[in-house]
Amino acid sequence: VLSRDGKVLSFNKSAGKLLSCSLELGEHFITLLPFSEGKDAVLSSLKGEDGEAVFTVKGRVIELSAYHSGSGAVVLMRDISEKSERDRMRREFTANVSHELKTPITTIMGFSELMKDSSLPSDKVVEFSAEINKEALRLKDTVSDIISLSSLDEGKLGEKKNINLSSSVKEEVDKLKNKAQQMEVTVKWEVDPALTVRGWERTLSEVLSNLLDNAIRYNRKGGEVFIKGERAGKDAKITVSDTGIGIPEEAISRIFERFYRVDKSRSRESGGTGLGLSIVKNGVERMEGSVKAESRLGKGTTFIVKLPLGRES
Ligand code: ADP
Repeated sequence: VLSRDGKVLSFNKSAGKLLSCSLELGEHFITLLPFSEGKDAVLSSLKGEDGEAVFTVKGRVIELSAYHSGSGAVVLMRDISEKSERDRMRREFTANVSHELKTPITTIMGFSELMKDSSLPSDKVVEFSAEINKEALRLKDTVSDIISLSSLDEGKLGEKKNINLSSSVKEEVDKLKNKAQQMEVTVKWEVDPALTVRGWERTLSEVLSNLLDNAIRYNRKGGEVFIKGERAGKDAKITVSDTGIGIPEEAISRIFERFYRVDKSRSRESGGTGLGLSIVKNGVERMEGSVKAESRLGKGTTFIVKLPLGRES
């Protein structure tokens, strides 16, 4: 609370903390504000017109609202760092989504334009339609990953259930059997048949399928994937290991970010969207579990997922 001439009449502990200084009664408040935006807002409130400003103090984003009150002013400050980080991430995501959607659309437009030419030889027609089909599939995969992520973000997933892990793993392995065969990768699994986890079937299926799909796609010819499911204390521990290309140490901390790829062209060529691991991390965390990756370049990668055990009825 400020007097008519802008001196501090009263304050709470957080005010000093937010401004990273030791506030004293009787001090001129505006001299403590780091940026002119804040000073202007406070000065205008003292003159009778409410003011607002946003500024940064030691890396924290502060939103200041100054209201004229009596003969002085009341200044409210809020630390909005988390909110502004969320907003930044949302803006970045939107920009990335637009880019990821635009690239295949541009290719589809280019090839379909060429195909309008009636004198195009039939082998070119076949080649261009294959390109169009590939890009359309990429669009479909990207859109369905975005939908998965946004339903995880929304958090409307319904009631959690006990899910038998071994059946879920078997189902996902069956779905990707052909892909593994095409890539000449052997998939083996071993899951305690009595093991259940607490969560949502669809989310668990997305977690397992993304990890397994990556373990196959980033593998080598003749390589192996091994999935293990066991009890580890209060958790179910799922390990997905492969004998593939591995991940460089400096990239490990970034692979769970949306649209991050170590090798863009390999990801694209193999049908990646750049969203698989962010779906895994988001899904696992929604189920109150954790995920981490360990890798040796050129040797292989292991993802370790921990999920709460199913409840006993
Ligand atoms: P993508 O669709 O590109 O595979 P993901 O989010 O699933 O996207 O993975 C992010 C990146 O992490 C991949 O582009 C790849 O570089 C790396 N990656 C993920 N899983 C593996 C793996 N099992 N082995 C090697 N690299 C991997």
